Amino acid sequence: MRILVTGGAGFIGSHLIDRLIADGHEILCLDNFYTGNKDNIVKWLDNPYFELIRHDITEPIRLEVDQIYHLACPASPVHYQYNPVKTVKTNVMGTLNMLGLAKRVKARFFLASTSEVYGDPEVHPQTEEYRGSVNPIGIRSCYDEGKRIAETLAFDYYRQNKVDIRVVRIFNTYGPRMLENDGRVVSNFIVQALRGEPLTVYGDGSQTRSFCYVSDLVEGFIRLMNSDYVGPVNLGNPDEYTILELAEAVQNLINPEAKIKFEPLPSDDPRRRRPDITKAKTLLNWEPTVPLQQGLKLTVEDFRNRINKEKKASVS
Ligand code: NAD
Ligand code: UDP
Ligand code: UDP
Repeated sequence: MRILVTGGAGFIGSHLIDRLIADGHEILCLDNFYTGNKDNIVKWLDNPYFELIRHDITEPIRLEVDQIYHLACPASPVHYQYNPVKTVKTNVMGTLNMLGLAKRVKARFFLASTSEVYGDPEVHPQTEEYRGSVNPIGIRSCYDEGKRIAETLAFDYYRQNKVDIRVVRIFNTYGPRMLENDGRVVSNFIVQALRGEPLTVYGDGSQTRSFCYVSDLVEGFIRLMNSDYVGPVNLGNPDEYTILELAEAVQNLINPEAKIKFEPLPSDDPRRRRPDITKAKTLLNWEPTVPLQQGLKLTVEDFRNRINKEKKASVS
């Protein structure tokens, strides 16, 4: 199949592309390189089944494809809050353009939505039926509300134009290739511990998240895309940790002497988050297989290699 991956040079997108190429598909990778990185896809540049398109999805584009995995959107609060209006445009106009494309070429359309549609949840763990508690005017709204309207658009194209959609709600995912300056908690803690800097815990660290390793997530994507279920489906690891527990896990792995520095909690930071994955289990026969300790080890290795390479380059 000919498959378009928007945001394909990013963290999750590039892992998805590796998997799709291994499965024998032809890939069009579309990215504007806002948070994407050429290093993530450089190994495919000479492959005749891979094509790289530098394009911003807020502008229309005509392509001919069988499937679309729509991931383009900055995912880290630091990056999506840098230019919030652009984040809204990417989610609204960008998703509209990709749905228009899917409609024209009759491609199956997969939306990478987020657990952020649940906001600061009053229901725990979060099921797909829960409608969420999102602040429409806060600093996270460009992303949370952006993804909510992206879901609305997908379902309206499905009902109105018979576009064949699939919608996943992704919970915090981590792994190799996250940017060093990504700003999300796993990469921040690992980079800080490796550089001998204190780990920055926001608030008192009692807020919780559930961390899914990227290969598990990609497996869930492929299963949903190739099933008959439209969604939305939660994909994430139901093992829940406080942020302080995560900091301790990173300390234990890298440097037990690493210090912890407490910083103010950003506004609207969700207190807790854990997916109910009953739907993914029963409909897709999917559940995560990589425990946090193992996933963190693989991620630390990748960051260590990259940081060592940089050190060598700066010496020579
Ligand atoms: P990422 O920032 O690494 O990847 C996003 C990619 O989209 C980047 O390559 C970026 O350059 C590209 N992009 C951004 N705006 C664009 C635009 N206007 N036009 C073209 N390309 C654009 O983030 P990620 O973690 O790989 O996330 C991928 C998707 O998964 C996002 O849609 C995100 O909202 C969703 N998601 C991720 C997580 C997570 O924990 N990683 C959780 C929930 C949802
Ligand atoms: N679009 C696109 N590529 C295509 C088809 C459509 O980028 O191959 C864009 C189109 O420019 C429009 C959006 O997708 O802005 C929605 O398209 P649709 O056909 O649903 O709506 P219309 O063009 O009628 O407003
Ligand atoms: N966080 C933290 N230190 C950091 C980065 C994030 O304590 O250096 C906290 C953040 O306040 C949030 C949690 O870790 O409570 C997860 O943050 P992230 O940005 O990774 O994801 P999100 O808040 O979007 O789930």
